[in-house]
Amino acid sequence: MHSSPPALERLVQELSKLPGIGRKTAGRLAFFLLSGDREKMESLASAIVEAKDKIVHCNCCYGFSETEICQICDDPRRTKDVICVVERASDILPFENSGIHKGLYFVLGGVLSPLDGIKPETLHIPTLIERIEKENVKELILALGSSPEAESTALYIDRILANTPVHRTRLARGIPVGSDLEFIDDITMLRAFEERVKI
Ligand SMILES: [Zn+2]
Repeated sequence: MHSSPPALERLVQELSKLPGIGRKTAGRLAFFLLSGDREKMESLASAIVEAKDKIVHCNCCYGFSETEICQICDDPRRTKDVICVVERASDILPFENSGIHKGLYFVLGGVLSPLDGIKPETLHIPTLIERIEKENVKELILALGSSPEAESTALYIDRILANTPVHRTRLARGIPVGSDLEFIDDITMLRAFEERVKI
């Protein structure tokens, strides 16, 4: 690959920085991109830059949005008193794709990890608690995956809300340990959601 033209080498290097893309796949993608016409490449490049420029975090749920309040939080048809708590903004996508959750979301921004210095106030946990106190939330679905850190984060939130009437649930087992929600297939997601259990 060292004898590649510098521009090609640079493209491969940039692509291989993407998650899950090794050098070999980056090479294949680079050749695929080069085989397309210039118009398609410009459209891809401008879509990336436009998304980066326009996408911000919703002021209410911290999900991705182009406006201060995202389309989901702003949608009057959504059930306002059921909130699904996820680790990252990208975790909202599989729920929306499957259409299973009719309520709202809340993105924590990570999971507790005292060894890495990630404490409740590092995440959006205080804002979540504030929101639950202010709004009449009936159910909080903790969809945080099953890594040890995710488990202890769910237990931490559950403990804080122990004396409140909020019903706390979690997704049923079936999601492999440490796996990312975004890679879960629709059927597994559907089952884990519908068979959700009390924490
Ligand atoms: Zn929102």
